[in-house]
Amino acid sequence: MGWLGLDDTDTVSDGCTTYTLHCLLESLPEDVEASIPSLVRLWPFAQQRTRGNAAVAVELTTNDEQALLTFLEEFWNEHLLPLKGGIGASEHEREQSPTDPGMVWFREKPDDASFYFDTVQRHVSIEEAPHPTRSWGGQGCIGAIAAVVWPKHSITWEAIAWREETQWSSKARSVCQHTLDEVATNDETFMSRDPRTERSLISPRGTCPVLFGVRAKTQANASSAGRTLASAPETEPIIGMRVFATNQASDDHLKEAIESTVRTIEVLSRGTTKITTEHGDWLAFAQSGNVKLLAQSLHPGDCIAAFGLEPEQGVLHIEKLSLRHATPMRVRPTCSECQRTMKSMGTGQGVRCPKCKNRSPDAWIEVERQIEANEWVEPPVDARRHLARPLAWYIDRDPINPGNA
Ligand SMILES: [Zn+2]
Repeated sequence: MGWLGLDDTDTVSDGCTTYTLHCLLESLPEDVEASIPSLVRLWPFAQQRTRGNAAVAVELTTNDEQALLTFLEEFWNEHLLPLKGGIGASEHEREQSPTDPGMVWFREKPDDASFYFDTVQRHVSIEEAPHPTRSWGGQGCIGAIAAVVWPKHSITWEAIAWREETQWSSKARSVCQHTLDEVATNDETFMSRDPRTERSLISPRGTCPVLFGVRAKTQANASSAGRTLASAPETEPIIGMRVFATNQASDDHLKEAIESTVRTIEVLSRGTTKITTEHGDWLAFAQSGNVKLLAQSLHPGDCIAAFGLEPEQGVLHIEKLSLRHATPMRVRPTCSECQRTMKSMGTGQGVRCPKCKNRSPDAWIEVERQIEANEWVEPPVDARRHLARPLAWYIDRDPINPGNA
């Protein structure tokens, strides 16, 4: 009995760590039994991440550990070691790290899950990781260990199907749209389709072995949704499919909410909005939909709360935002004769009606702003991270309030 972890076997354009694990599981020695594998998303800003930034792990049961280790050694040398140093063809400008695969074996699963939380919440180094019984390779061992250590306290499921090898170089994928529409209406599946554009969210866009990955709240629903999609006549042939337990939609990457007071709001290019607060700069990105709109409607003095990631000290990338208390808006009084808004005559000079020239002493009136306090907002489904838990899954849509809706 033990745990196998695997990471960093893909480049931006080729391969997929889930498929590597599938091939390994298909070729296991006969007496070895595999449990449901895990797919663990890691810190989205990891410097040496490859494409999906996901690692995989699986519990293996055998009476002959030595034979299993010999098999793993051979599999490593034959299939994984040759991937080292690979860089995919990319149209993106993002700097890529060469593939540096890692594989680990733990005779027993470490009790302490803190390394897992570190790897989803910040940059970690291999020195901080628990020591595996055996390990192969380099940087990839970090994710591989994190996937083994993942405590599975909050699980969702994903059925991943791989396409025929002749199709891997193609970005086009055929998945029956009509069947996907049906699958997406099942409340137990999530993030299958963008409700605004009706665009599919289950297929990656690049060249890789994955045909689709369909996410669900239960193992049974992931499995049946995967089978339904794969067997639809308009879906292209697949060479395998597996259901993974995942940390997707767990919010494990987020620490507790931060509350602060708004100092200034600045709209940057494409609508990305910088909120300068008493606790540093908070960014609402252009694609973040309601998060960006709420950010743009804030006034200095507003009290706000947010969950997000801090890839650099003092800069929060907002993932969930809430206005806790809105400062009232200060306006000039209206003229008692003709109801026009009075205008200031200058500091200490009082106010005057622009129409009838009626005067009165300098004054402001406070009016409440038409803005909902204590509502939380999140980015639209196609702009959310794999790790992001939908607000609808929280009691009263309030992520400060733990537990499931
Ligand atoms: Zn007037």
